Amino acid sequence: MSSELIYEKKTVYEKAEKVIVKEAFDYAEGYKKYLDAGKTEREALSESVRMIEKYGFREYRLGDAIKAGDRLYYNNRGKNLFVFSVGSEPINEGIRLTVAHIDAPRIDLKQCPLYEDGGMGFFKTHYYGGIRKYQWVATPLALHGVIATADGRVINVNIGEDESDPLFYINDLLPHLGYDQGKLPLSEGIKGEQLNVLVGSRPDDEENSIKLNVLKLLNEKYGTTEEDLLSAELCVVPAAKARDIGFDRSLIGAYGHDDRVCAYPILTALLDTLDTTHTTMCVLADKEETGSDGPSGMQCELILDIINELASALGGNSAVVRANSKCLSADVSAAYDPNFPEVFEKRNTPMLSCGAVFTKFTGSRGKSGTNDASAEYIGWLRSVLAKDSVVWQAGELGKVDCGGGGTVAKYISKHNIDTIDLGVPVISMHAPYEVISKVDIYETYRAVKAFYKY
Ligand code: MN
Ligand code: MN
Repeated sequence: MSSELIYEKKTVYEKAEKVIVKEAFDYAEGYKKYLDAGKTEREALSESVRMIEKYGFREYRLGDAIKAGDRLYYNNRGKNLFVFSVGSEPINEGIRLTVAHIDAPRIDLKQCPLYEDGGMGFFKTHYYGGIRKYQWVATPLALHGVIATADGRVINVNIGEDESDPLFYINDLLPHLGYDQGKLPLSEGIKGEQLNVLVGSRPDDEENSIKLNVLKLLNEKYGTTEEDLLSAELCVVPAAKARDIGFDRSLIGAYGHDDRVCAYPILTALLDTLDTTHTTMCVLADKEETGSDGPSGMQCELILDIINELASALGGNSAVVRANSKCLSADVSAAYDPNFPEVFEKRNTPMLSCGAVFTKFTGSRGKSGTNDASAEYIGWLRSVLAKDSVVWQAGELGKVDCGGGGTVAKYISKHNIDTIDLGVPVISMHAPYEVISKVDIYETYRAVKAFYKY
């Protein structure tokens, strides 16, 4: 009797069948490849398009005809992807919508980045998203991005991923001279204007200039000048690849789990449930880490345009479609970390290996600035997940008033779409190398699959 009355959170290892754990470890291999292929939103989008085209998805443009059975994608500026599969039921029944973001915290170059000082060449930077600056110094970095030239070329830059490539680096102070720095609060030990990227030290032959030598090398490789950097989007990201962590290989360490650890499941689950009667849509968003602003972020009204197009092309009504749609805002949560118990409330914090996390609300200081999923919607989701015995947990980000955070959920629910955050618990979120559990990403995949299917 008590076992029926009492809810007890258990791990996937305790609750799921052994075969699920085996499947989870196999699934993780594909995920690691996805991580290494896409360290920026542009690269993650290209890799995602490559995957979906194998399933017969073709590019859609606003205004194109749409019919039942179509598999389409809309590529928004190379940074934001809408993937949708049109089901057999009337579009007015709504869309099963999922959204994850493919941008991740990193260090962007300024538009006039290059200078030399003290016998070294550097790039000036402005960090992107919520980073802890001290974590990005004295660690191997790679350079990714694009340079757009005035004559219309867009040059892809990717240096530091191949074993034979050079790497980049941000200097830190040696402990011998770091006494005063060591007394500063952690958040001030490294300042934004100290995140200068080391890019060389050898001058050119003619003018004895390190800066000119770097420009010559860039010109040789890409045909660019210093002015071309003004119209570039270049960033440094950790050079490390995704690897198994631990003797038992149960965890994955990587850059950018937040939020590709949700992007990969929502995309692969859609590809694995193409025959549903529902119309399903998976959105890979940009700019979540800086507030979802701009035309590639989820505050852009493009999502409404696409739903409007679907509704009108399929004989539905956009307001009705939205009212009947359901959304999973797939984003990570902070896993309980026994190294820092003081910031977690153990009963309501996501635990590693306990499966997909539902976060009813986010925000801060009395639930400000958040979507709040309804009890009814969560009740419905419980019934759906139970059909496939998905292991899941409810979670909240840390202790009350300890901090807070947000996701894209509120930018979806404002369109009258029931939305809840669902995702994977992460250790060391926003660090250059984050950690997740293989069974958690797999249960998230299974949860999303059930959501698309039932
Ligand atoms: Mn996130
Ligand atoms: Mn984040």
